[in-house]
Amino acid sequence: MAKYIDPKCRLCRREGVKLYLKGARCLSPKCPIEKKGGQVPGQHGKKRARGRISGYGIQLREKQKAKRLYAVLENQFHGYYEQAIKSRGNTAEVLIQLLESRLDNICYRLGFVTSRSFARQLVTHGNVLVDGKRVDVPSFQIKPGMVISLPENAAKFDFVAPNLIEKNAPAKWLSRVGTQGKVDRMPTTDEIGSDIKTNLIIEFYSR
Ligand code: SF4
Repeated sequence: MAKYIDPKCRLCRREGVKLYLKGARCLSPKCPIEKKGGQVPGQHGKKRARGRISGYGIQLREKQKAKRLYAVLENQFHGYYEQAIKSRGNTAEVLIQLLESRLDNICYRLGFVTSRSFARQLVTHGNVLVDGKRVDVPSFQIKPGMVISLPENAAKFDFVAPNLIEKNAPAKWLSRVGTQGKVDRMPTTDEIGSDIKTNLIIEFYSR
């Protein structure tokens, strides 16, 4: 009998890494990557050897991986790249900082929720305040010093409340007390802790 594989898990299997798109399941033995490794989905997944991939293919996969991790569509992702190359800083670092500064990602990094999908849901449903004002745009760019908080009703949601009680530690460049978090500074590439090779993405777009 065919086995149902969640479409989000298929994305991880396609990229051969855990993208943490399903919250608690990603940390459990039920994660298909834990069970099967990075096998490419589909009938011929096993035969599609990763060893034969071209330089272009490697760059493309790295871009796709980042897009899927942050749930960003192509146009918007390319827009981040354009912004990064126009900046004065290190292009690769600025690109990752732009992605990390998205409101949905910040909610995830603050530990309000266990996945970026839940964070996106929280934001789009109007349950996040930035400097006291409701913001429902997941791509809203958060700057250092901004305060992100949850209204009382959102703190009681099933997918939020346990995280607040368990005191999920926020990322190093953020601080949080209860339902209120703050961006202290921009993260460095080392602090992101993801295995995204931003240089390959820059090379992909520079071709
Ligand atoms: Fe599925 Fe999460 Fe595992 Fe990815 S990391 S395969 S989304 S359970």
